[in-house]
Amino acid sequence: MNTTKYIFVTGGVSSSLGKGIIAASLAKLLQARGYKVTIQKLDPYINIDPGTLNPYEHGECYVTDDGAETDLDLGHYERFLNVPTSQANNVTTGRIYQSVIDKERRGEFLGKTVQVVPHITNEIKERVQLLGRTGKFDIVITEIGGTVGDIESLPYIEAVRQLKWELGDNNALVIHLTLIPYLKAAGELKTKPTQHSVKTLMESGIQADILVCRTEYHLSDDLRRKLALFCNVQKEAVIESIDASTIYDVPNLMLKEGLDVITLEKLGLSDDNQPNLDRWNSFLKRHKNPKSEVKIGLIGKYVELQDSYKSILESFIHAGAENEVKVKVVSIHSEHIDQTNIAKELEGLHGILVAPGFGGRGIEGKIEAVRYARENKIPYLGICLGMQMAVIEYSRNVLGLKEANSTEMDSETPYPVIDLMDEQKSITDKGGTMRLGAWKCELDENSIAGNIYKSKTIEERHRHRYEYNDKFRTQLEEAGLIATGINPETGLVEIVEIKDHPWFVGVQYHPEYKSTVANPHPLFVAFVKAANEHLKNN
Ligand code: GLN
Repeated sequence: MNTTKYIFVTGGVSSSLGKGIIAASLAKLLQARGYKVTIQKLDPYINIDPGTLNPYEHGECYVTDDGAETDLDLGHYERFLNVPTSQANNVTTGRIYQSVIDKERRGEFLGKTVQVVPHITNEIKERVQLLGRTGKFDIVITEIGGTVGDIESLPYIEAVRQLKWELGDNNALVIHLTLIPYLKAAGELKTKPTQHSVKTLMESGIQADILVCRTEYHLSDDLRRKLALFCNVQKEAVIESIDASTIYDVPNLMLKEGLDVITLEKLGLSDDNQPNLDRWNSFLKRHKNPKSEVKIGLIGKYVELQDSYKSILESFIHAGAENEVKVKVVSIHSEHIDQTNIAKELEGLHGILVAPGFGGRGIEGKIEAVRYARENKIPYLGICLGMQMAVIEYSRNVLGLKEANSTEMDSETPYPVIDLMDEQKSITDKGGTMRLGAWKCELDENSIAGNIYKSKTIEERHRHRYEYNDKFRTQLEEAGLIATGINPETGLVEIVEIKDHPWFVGVQYHPEYKSTVANPHPLFVAFVKAANEHLKNN
């Protein structure tokens, strides 16, 4: 018998209310009470995955161990729960349709007309229950992307309606996240948009069980009673979600509001175990009481949009707390720096991070930033493209190979120090074809990386097509840029370090995807520590 319970999180009134954070916070509380929980995101767009989307469209593309390119909310799920997600945790309309159409071509519908209801909705229901059927989870939380009333959300809402009915009371519930706007002129919080949004949900046959209300001001008792009465929910099921100074406060805020208790009650599960948030709260305490502040420059070309580098920013929060240091991330647009202004733009930084990225725009600025960090002995962390830029910089300015480049930027370069892997050369499709997901890496024990990771073999997540070109390795190593991490299966270089520099590390992989509150990433922790030492010494 399948005893997994299902929670659906829908959104109303406005987008960007933070369904992902609410889902992750509730999951955290349930996990802290001893339940095994996972979170899934259903995205109503037609792309197969966000891998081909520009960061300006969709923010960061988050990558799982099994190589799924996913929505950035999965990053929040992992950072809160410290449990890896997988392909099954992010499903898009594109994927649903692709799978139904493939079945149709194989003749699996036996001559029937293939329709949104039941075929698309059945596929959605399958995908939701897939995680439950693994037997690994007591509770699956499914976040429905978009806002109720959107045309593209309709099949998802219908699938939720059917599942709720099929699974029965106590086995499934719907949490609706809405906004209670404050009208300054009237000096009042307004419930009407929420009433309408709950009504829209009811038109699709779904009664919300719990309302989570985003608000800038506390909800009075009267207002909660009014919301309960007009939206058909218990008063205890009206949960206030007040603006917080950090997303990491939200689990405690939800605890205070009793979101976990009302959820467990409605699912017929025990709330006897009190939530153990000791580790979480000790992180929060460190995060909120830093002993010093370091400034780290984040050099990238999507810096205008905070979400583009979400996991990097969160990794700095985890690593900062671990070091009891506030990390002030200074975003610097790589297209705005060059030889003439670099010293002025990067002055006063205690660490420099060159971000991942694609294409040639802004790379000369990134190379200048690497040079500045190398020559001025400022702690440097290069991630993916940031590692490749470090190799190019070293080749150009130390080895004297002036035209060294990546073949991504210059296919004719005489010194292709970064080049396409052989198996990538015949690939023409863009979607899902990079080197993705977790790969092993063996560390040189006498290196920075070897010292900070606790084991000799590590596994880190990748998302790139181009690689360090081994043909230049001897030359680069003799000149002082050492390969300190190697993929044991392919021999590919995954980490480079400069021997004669206090802290200079470039990694071909993305450490930021694996940093969590419970396990701050060792590389970020060490980088922030090095930045803090740089601060003290200067
Ligand atoms: N554009 C580079 C590559 O494909 C780096 C990718 C990245 O930074 N994620 O290899």
